[in-house]
Amino acid sequence: MTLAQPPHKKAKALRPGARRPAKELCSECGLCDTYYIHYVKEACAFINQQFPELETQTHGRSRDLEQENDWYFGVHQDMMTARKTQPVEGAQWTGIVSSIAIEMLNRGLVEGVICVQNTQEDRFQPKPVLATTPEEILAAKVNKPTLSPNLSVLELVEQSNMKRLLVIGVGCQIQALRAVEHRLGLEKLYVLGMPCVDNVDRAGLQKFLDTTSRSPETVVYYEFMQDFRVHFKHEDGSTETVPFFGLKTNQLKDVFAPSCMSCFDYVNGLADLVVGYMGAPFGWQWIVVRNDRGQEMLDLVQDQIETQPVMSQGDRKPAVQQSIPAYDKGVTLPMWAAKLMGVFIERIGPKGLEYARFSIDSHFTRNYLFVKRNYPEKLAAHVPEFAKRIVRQYKLPD
Ligand code: FAD
Ligand code: SF4
Repeated sequence: MTLAQPPHKKAKALRPGARRPAKELCSECGLCDTYYIHYVKEACAFINQQFPELETQTHGRSRDLEQENDWYFGVHQDMMTARKTQPVEGAQWTGIVSSIAIEMLNRGLVEGVICVQNTQEDRFQPKPVLATTPEEILAAKVNKPTLSPNLSVLELVEQSNMKRLLVIGVGCQIQALRAVEHRLGLEKLYVLGMPCVDNVDRAGLQKFLDTTSRSPETVVYYEFMQDFRVHFKHEDGSTETVPFFGLKTNQLKDVFAPSCMSCFDYVNGLADLVVGYMGAPFGWQWIVVRNDRGQEMLDLVQDQIETQPVMSQGDRKPAVQQSIPAYDKGVTLPMWAAKLMGVFIERIGPKGLEYARFSIDSHFTRNYLFVKRNYPEKLAAHVPEFAKRIVRQYKLPD
């Protein structure tokens, strides 16, 4: 007797360029490039918002809505800041993500790691891989600051009969992954997530570089830093900084992908462990341990990192409230005023976890308005309750 095939095996992946079920809200997470498209209506982050259910499945509970820290940072059991004592050269920050993945593979906790390298021709063009060697993981270091179809390699996992897997990814990818997790035939899944915001497609990235950097073609890395500046690193090792308030917001308003303008999963609520920077002092990484699997992963690199407790300082709310109409109207300050404003805000502005809350508030209020204006029929179901509570703290234009 032959066992019946799971239903997804008969489904057909979409061809590249074909319109995805989430239409213009698609973040190109990669699920629809595989036969797991069979589950897209339940799994897609932009079709079916299901944070409470997936949080309970993953962490054993959903966010406690009486706890403000849970609105902002999601379910967690520990939080700290950390940096590698010997940073990985060429990593986005100090390389904690790559180091954990390598340890997991070397110690046999997993047989493969889903991560994203770049193509040979273009350092910013993502190329998702199922890595099975430390070299392949290292080749994926540093952000590809574009929408990346990380889940497009999911079929390879089932085909290779892997039973223990680590997936590295951003929120929209992880939401879809969690929804199909029990279809992958795995015995153990670990998820190492990064916070993510304001992503762009490859053309949008070019527009951002062209309008913001003095030398777009030599940029090898950039990050929106806690000092309220964008830091670009160039091929010759030099660093260029541009204040946030000097960005040409009128030209850049439409550059961000519609998926990212309607996303409320900045902090990657469904990963086991999250590694970012925004709740940490400059130069340090921000670590959020969501559950025991996350702690198990972090323990693997304890002897490679130094840590500090998280801190919080300042009051973000007036700055957030003031930035709402400015962003809405696409106001760009002259460069001298932008620099002055940057220096001022850096001195007295929010720091540590308060900076993270500043960034979350600014993006959630903007995204709430975007969904309300462009997809009013989706607003009630798509915006999760924790995000509604965050947005309600501010006065929004119509
Ligand atoms: P590395 O060791 O350099 O490893 C980077 C890992 O990222 C690699 O394993 C690679 O597979 C993966 N990766 C690269 N590009 C992508 C992509 N497009 N999609 C999915 N996975 C990818 N942190 C914040 O605190 N605030 C933010 O606003 C924020 N925005 C981000 C936006 C994007 C698009 C990305 C990818 C990350 C963002 N982060 C953000 C996380 C932060 O920039 C660092 O990636 C994180 O701190 C890990 O640094 P590292 O040196 O340990 O990583
Ligand atoms: Fe498919 Fe992912 Fe796009 Fe949703 S976001 S339509 S699951 S590729």
